[in-house]
Amino acid sequence: SSGAPALEVHELPMGHGTHVGHAADFFTRALSAGRRPAPAPVPAQRVHFTVSDRRAVLDRVDAALASGVLTQGPQVARFEELARPWTGTRTAAVASGSAALEIALRIIGVAGRTVLMPVNTFFATAAAAVRAQAAVRFVDIEPDGLGMDPDALRVALDRCPDTAAVLPVHIGGIVSPALDGVLAHCRERGIPVVEDAAHAFGATLDGRPAGGFGRFGAFSFFPTKVAVSGEGGLLSAALPGDLEQVRRWRDHGKSAQGSTLHDRPGGNWRLSELHAAVGTVDLERFSRTLARRRELAARYDALLADVPGIRPHAVPRASGGNFYKYLAYPDPDGPLDRALLKKRLRERHGVALAGEVYDHLLCDHPYFASGAHRAAPGGFEHARWFARHHVALPLYPSLTEAEQIRVVAALRRELS
Ligand SMILES: *Cc1c(COP(=O)(O)O)cnc(C)c1O
Repeated sequence: SSGAPALEVHELPMGHGTHVGHAADFFTRALSAGRRPAPAPVPAQRVHFTVSDRRAVLDRVDAALASGVLTQGPQVARFEELARPWTGTRTAAVASGSAALEIALRIIGVAGRTVLMPVNTFFATAAAAVRAQAAVRFVDIEPDGLGMDPDALRVALDRCPDTAAVLPVHIGGIVSPALDGVLAHCRERGIPVVEDAAHAFGATLDGRPAGGFGRFGAFSFFPTKVAVSGEGGLLSAALPGDLEQVRRWRDHGKSAQGSTLHDRPGGNWRLSELHAAVGTVDLERFSRTLARRRELAARYDALLADVPGIRPHAVPRASGGNFYKYLAYPDPDGPLDRALLKKRLRERHGVALAGEVYDHLLCDHPYFASGAHRAAPGGFEHARWFARHHVALPLYPSLTEAEQIRVVAALRRELS
């Protein structure tokens, strides 16, 4: 071109082939009157498989179809093996993160008793306990690692002597150093711990992987999580006997493998070979995924250092975060509330922030908002502050440095 060459490379949403319409539209805009096209929006989330990843998935799906083994076969076994180094212990694949939680609670046997969990978590954590016929009670979080607050847990344990299980959640992919206190209170009273590690595949505390601290760790491979299989879940279990129980529960409660007798109300909580084909390809690249997420987070830290009006959440030193979410706090006394900030970023800069974790406390959902679950005035102080004030910046392995610079420039513009 004549004059100053300005070249921008845009990735087009073309799917498997080259969509002529998209391409024609792009080049028309790019070449018209010498104007550059508006930069493509930065989405909140991007699930990306390279062409060679996609080929690998298709080959594995083809192998499953050719063999006729469509569920619970060699791909699932390999998925479990590949996950093992990241969970620090043996694993069994299941249909979803929710199934993983429910199976763990069914094995512990929580029916008719209480399960304690942080008030700041996804609805599925609580719903699993409800389905396992437990009474659910909520506990506040601590602000540093966003984990269950050990002091609040002690109070709740004193109030609920029938507690059958405690369910800490590794919010945003941070295994909080406060987990040590949670484990200590539970050990003292002989209460089993189930980690909801749906956010935390690959995250560590003092170098030990999430999912290896409690009796069980439950992981999700839903497309928004750090490792994906489409739909899928995984249970890590500290006790070998528990893992065998998981295999019974996930397969309709058969009393033994291959048996036609059933000795418990299990479900269809199996992972299919087709989902495992996606999951194995994703786990084979997971060390790169994790390194990339950490690199992007470090760059946000550096870029945000001199942006007034927003403060990144400082992940505790002992916690090896997987940056499922990159969390930050706009100044609560700043010019814009969160909803307006998100709207401005989207409309003026094409930048979509990721979803919060979470914007409503469990006690405020209609399902829990009455009776025993109702929050006392001023209750859940830390969780409420966090829910109201944090944002999550877009962070996924395919995010480019240029996109990060745009995100931060947009924040600087709107917050100063
Ligand atoms: C995603 C998620 C779940 C549920 O996982 P699914 O695979 O969607 O069933 C449970 N707990 C938390 C904290 C989650 O984020």
